[in-house]
Amino acid sequence: MILGSTGSIGENALRVAAALPDRLEVVGLAARSNVSRLLEQAAQFQVRHVAIADESAAAECLAARPRGVTIHAGSAGVTRLAGLPEADLVLCALVGISGLHSVLAALENGKNVALATKEVLVAAGQTVMETAARRKARILPVDSEHSAIFQCIDSHPPSEIRRLILTASGGPFASRQDVNFDKVTAADALKHPRWNMGRKVTVDSATLMNKGLEIMEAHWLFGIPYDRIDVVIHPESIVHSMVEFIDGSVLAQLSPPDMRFAIQHALTHPDRVPGGLPTLDLANMGALHFKAPDLLRFPGLRLARQAAVTGGTMPAVLNAANEIAVERFLDGHLTFSGIWHTVEAVMNLHHAVSAPDLVTIEKSDRWARQEAERQCLVARSQTG
Ligand code: MG
Repeated sequence: MILGSTGSIGENALRVAAALPDRLEVVGLAARSNVSRLLEQAAQFQVRHVAIADESAAAECLAARPRGVTIHAGSAGVTRLAGLPEADLVLCALVGISGLHSVLAALENGKNVALATKEVLVAAGQTVMETAARRKARILPVDSEHSAIFQCIDSHPPSEIRRLILTASGGPFASRQDVNFDKVTAADALKHPRWNMGRKVTVDSATLMNKGLEIMEAHWLFGIPYDRIDVVIHPESIVHSMVEFIDGSVLAQLSPPDMRFAIQHALTHPDRVPGGLPTLDLANMGALHFKAPDLLRFPGLRLARQAAVTGGTMPAVLNAANEIAVERFLDGHLTFSGIWHTVEAVMNLHHAVSAPDLVTIEKSDRWARQEAERQCLVARSQTG
């Protein structure tokens, strides 16, 4: 089952599935609105169940009457698909918080979840991890850094871990001091030097907000406190993250920067199988570099840590404000630096509720989206 099949992770997951036909069978696909690509994929992989989140796109899909395919419409349809008995593993690569109900539906039905949508853990980490534990389901990380940590930790308990070291490529701007963040365009921010990813995560990577979200993702996945999760800039994106153990040894996972490594690992875990992925040629690369992130130039990382430590509903608010701000930046309605200014302004207006239930989290999420839209309008009127 692949949720978000027409996006970057979804397309790569289908490439992994196509390379391992004896091992992986795709039984369901979900997308937001790209009907033509979704139906192409369904035909290629002989999938009987598809879901479309966008209601008008779902109507278009129904009108196409694809033979032998059941269409599940709307966001409720995506959630229903995630719980279908046909699948034993659900890969969630939906964009942002929209994946939350589907992830919970899969876990409630006892299915393991290969999780690419980090926003789900950022906003509702406690609820998601408790649901997984109660239903004895596993969450297998698809985010490359967390896949690396997952592989390095193996079966070691948190008590044997001194710290997690998340690597960050730094995006297109970390190594360029000359960039004016009020003038950066969407096209500049989308030119990622190493990774070919979706638009949302590429912009998050450029602001380093992505790494802030990943600190929270790592905290929930591995049960490690925030003061033991560090970030290091590593422009080559070969070392995907590291784990320092209490004996002082550091283990790292290395591979070329290709999402299929993390996807295949999650889909074939606990086995390792040859999937035809590119090999790593370190001798030809020559050098790998590491440096500390610049928190003054990239306040997103600082804001995310602040939200993480505050906890409660604050991470959901940071995430929602960031999702809106990134959309407005991509629309050309907000400056690049406006992204973190918007997030900070919304956080400053929020009174965090501790130990929130799902209803409270979703209420905070909606409030933060409205407030972020308002802040974007204010920013726009000020810059003319
Ligand atoms: Mg990542």
